[in-house]
Amino acid sequence: MAGQIRAIRGMRDILPPETSRWQWVEQVAREVFDLYGYRELRLPLLERTELFSRSIGVDTDIVAKEMYTFPDRHGDSLTLRPEATAQVVRAALENRLDRAPGVQKLYTLGPMFRYERPQKGRYRQFHQINCEALGADAPDLDAEVILMLMEILGRLGLTQVRLFLNSLGCPECQQDFKARLKLFLRTKEGWCDDCFRRREINPLRVLDCKSAHCQGLLKGSPVLKDCLDEACAGHYARVLELLNRFRVPYEENPRLVRGLDYYTRTAFEVVAAGLGAQDAVAGGGRYNGLSQELGGPELPAIGFAIGQDRLLEVLPPEAGRISPPKVFLAALGDAARDRALGLLQDLRRWGLAAEMDFQGRSLKAQMSLADRLGAIYVIILGNRELETGQAVLRRMATGGQEQVALKELPAILANFISGKV
Ligand code: AMP
Repeated sequence: MAGQIRAIRGMRDILPPETSRWQWVEQVAREVFDLYGYRELRLPLLERTELFSRSIGVDTDIVAKEMYTFPDRHGDSLTLRPEATAQVVRAALENRLDRAPGVQKLYTLGPMFRYERPQKGRYRQFHQINCEALGADAPDLDAEVILMLMEILGRLGLTQVRLFLNSLGCPECQQDFKARLKLFLRTKEGWCDDCFRRREINPLRVLDCKSAHCQGLLKGSPVLKDCLDEACAGHYARVLELLNRFRVPYEENPRLVRGLDYYTRTAFEVVAAGLGAQDAVAGGGRYNGLSQELGGPELPAIGFAIGQDRLLEVLPPEAGRISPPKVFLAALGDAARDRALGLLQDLRRWGLAAEMDFQGRSLKAQMSLADRLGAIYVIILGNRELETGQAVLRRMATGGQEQVALKELPAILANFISGKV
């Protein structure tokens, strides 16, 4: 026999009933996005490699080590998207969304791909809920975006979180900071190979190194906050002021830089208790220069991504396990089964989820199937019921039974289930 084919390492099948929790998270996010005026984009999973190498930065972990990149049959280099921001900006520019009046508020949901070492909370295909607001540099928009993120997490019941904030300043502040940081980094020895190289070419990335040893060496390093010019410092102060006003708890983390090169000014990350090493559930920030990097006009913007896999891992297992109340038709004999088919359609027309057995099971086996499917009501239908036009309606929770007229069944059940009777 041929060997069984398995899924690719780091890529998971998400199965029912877990999928209902995924749908619930997406629905809550969509509701909040609607309230804040965000509209959905559906974007391709594949993009030209250049989109990511140009925007994320060639010396970041993502571009240097983690992208799924391959030539297509024509020889063009394509990449499975490792993140959404660059492609949202690409799509906005290509479709001229940036020319419309006002801030363009966009969101997109779906899988991202990074060739990382799989572990709990880290997958090679993972899923993000992503939003981007394009067209304004106002700190008030930064605050609104953060409020919206916290609103989504709050509505999902995720309260044990810490919001970390920093400002990365504008490119001029960053230049000043990088110069100071470089001097500091040269004074220490023992960096990992990546940091040894990066301390000269892209010193900001050293702050983001995952090695505990490098993090230890960074103690006492200069911080961005000390290098912010007046405008960037003012922007940051206003964001903090608004978060205070709206009572969003936050902590400043002066070494937060995030793993992508395009961030400017506000950067943030949300960390959840109970996730172990991979504890960031969401991250985001402002990226005022990204549009120009991609050949577009000046288009200041800010956004975030929620890691949906991790979010679901940290939410209680029962959160979002919603399934509609179900009716099961237990039919015995060909005539009853035939009648049951019509009844099923009637029930569904009334908006009731209804099922029956298709494998010729005994009544006892049908009852246990109904139980397994989580049916709230079972209707028992045999020859006698067909003759009298009455069926037995059984409430699974109590075991109580009553006779009801078949004709009245959909209306009666709809009333029961909506709690009217
Ligand atoms: P990033 O795009 O790296 O800022 O990531 C945003 C969020 O996506 C993170 O806070 C994580 O929750 C999630 N995330 C990033 N990489 C992975 C991964 N390999 N597996 C699962 N979730 C991830």
